[in-house]
Amino acid sequence: MADDTKQFNATSYFAYIKDEKKLMGIRCRNCSHLSSTPRTMCPSCHSKDVEWHEFSGKAKLSTFTCISIVSVAMGKRGYGRDNPCCTGIVTLEEGPRVSAHILGVDGNNPQSIKTGMALVLDPEEIDPEDPALAFRPA
Ligand SMILES: [Zn+2]
Repeated sequence: MADDTKQFNATSYFAYIKDEKKLMGIRCRNCSHLSSTPRTMCPSCHSKDVEWHEFSGKAKLSTFTCISIVSVAMGKRGYGRDNPCCTGIVTLEEGPRVSAHILGVDGNNPQSIKTGMALVLDPEEIDPEDPALAFRPA
């Protein structure tokens, strides 16, 4: 069960992933809408009666791109012209979509990466300087 005393913000969101290996979002107690981003107001009905909701971490790849010209932070992690990083939109099993790094795929061979492929959250790859979600093939 989620600890509802945590504030609805990015710090709590990434702490759940890093410390508890849980992908959390927000569920509206008024209309049951699920949101993948931690916010204090339901994006559907604007109710402020929201609670933390744990997602399974299972997802499918909806779309992706492989990037060769990377940020300094990604360059330090070994990505670049010789090792493009893959990033994409992932549809969670519960419905919401999230933007995420796609790990464990060959960025030099994007033909091998398939939309619709099953993915799972990788909670180990959170960079505290630049936190972002990461998924890898299930
Ligand atoms: Zn709502």
